[in-house]
Amino acid sequence: MTRTRKDLRCSVCGGNASYFSPALRRYFCDEHFVDIIVDRVRRSINKYKLADKLKHVVVGLSGGKDSVTLLSVLQRLANEFGFEILAVHINLGIGEYSKHSEQVCREIARKLNVPLLVLNLADLLGVTLPQMVKKLKRPACSICGTIKRYLFNVVGIEACATAVALGHNADDIAAYILKNFLLQDLSAIKKHGPATDPLDSLAVGRVRPLYEVLEDETRSYVKAAKLPFVETTCPFKPRRYFEATIKKALEFLEGEVKGLRLDFLRRIAKNLDVYPNPSEPLRSCSVCGLISSAEICAFCKLTLRVVGKPLGASVRQRVREALASLGLGWCKKSSKSS
Ligand code: SF4
Ligand code: ZN
Ligand code: ZN
Repeated sequence: MTRTRKDLRCSVCGGNASYFSPALRRYFCDEHFVDIIVDRVRRSINKYKLADKLKHVVVGLSGGKDSVTLLSVLQRLANEFGFEILAVHINLGIGEYSKHSEQVCREIARKLNVPLLVLNLADLLGVTLPQMVKKLKRPACSICGTIKRYLFNVVGIEACATAVALGHNADDIAAYILKNFLLQDLSAIKKHGPATDPLDSLAVGRVRPLYEVLEDETRSYVKAAKLPFVETTCPFKPRRYFEATIKKALEFLEGEVKGLRLDFLRRIAKNLDVYPNPSEPLRSCSVCGLISSAEICAFCKLTLRVVGKPLGASVRQRVREALASLGLGWCKKSSKSS
C-alpha cells in the first residue's frame, strides 16, 4: 500500500509530519523539526567550541533561507549560551530584488526582536552593485563577495564583535572545499572550517554555526518556524557555476553512500591542520588599516577604480556612526573584561 503524506507521523510525538530530515532520515512535525535543527546547532557549538566566539556576534542577514535560519537558531540559543546578536543587512541596490530583501530582513529582525543594521551601498559609496558591474566589467558575484566580506569585517571590528557568523550550510561548505581540492587550492580549504581565527585589529573571526545543517533542512526550517524569507533569486546569480555542479555530484554520491556530506565535513574539521595557511603575508591596508595581502586592500582598490578614491577609511567612519546610534555597547563591555 502506498503511504500518502497524511500517513507520515512525527518520529517524536506521533503527530502529522510535514518535514523529513535527510541527516537523521526521520520525519518530524513543525515543532519537532525546529527543535532538531536547534539541537544540531547546539551540538556543533559545543563540539567545535564556538560559544565564546559567539558572545557578541554579527550575523550577516541576506534574507535568504540560510541566513534566516541562522539568525533564528542563534536567537533561540541566545539565553542558554549568553549570546548578544546584531544582524547586518547590506542593500546592494539591485532594484526590486534589493528593496524586497531589505523589507524581509526588517520584518524578521522585528519578529525575532534582534537589532538590525542596514548598510546601503548607494549611501556608503555613491554607487550600486549594478553600476559597479557595468563600470568594472567583472562578474557581479566577485565584486559582491569583496564588498560583503569587507563590510561584515568592518562592522565586526567597529562593534568589537567576537565573531561574524555566516549562514553557509553544509552543502555549500562541502562544495567549496571539494572545489578547492579539485583545483588544488589547498590553503583555501582551511578557511572553510567551522571557525576561522581573528587577526588582531585587522580581521574579526568567522564562524559557521550551520556547518552540519543541510540545505534541504534550512529550506524546511524557515517553513516549519513560519519565518518570512526571500524566495526570489538574485538576478545576477549565474545559471551555471562550478559549485552548483559539485553540489549535484555530492547529492548523487549521497544517494549511494548515506551520510557522506556530513561525514566528509566532520573529517575535514578534524584534519584542518593538515592543510597549509595562505602563502602571501597578511598586513594592514595603508588606507583603511584592515586586513590586506597588498599595499591597499581589495575593497579600497575596488572603490578607487569605481569612484576615483579608496573609500575604506570613510566607510569605517560611517559604520562607526551608524553603530553609535544603535547604542550596542559591546566595546565598553570588552574593555571592562580585558
Ligand atoms: Fe551577490 Fe552574486 Fe549572491 Fe547576487 S548572486 S547576492 S551578486 S553573490
Ligand atoms: Zn512532533
Ligand atoms: Zn583598505
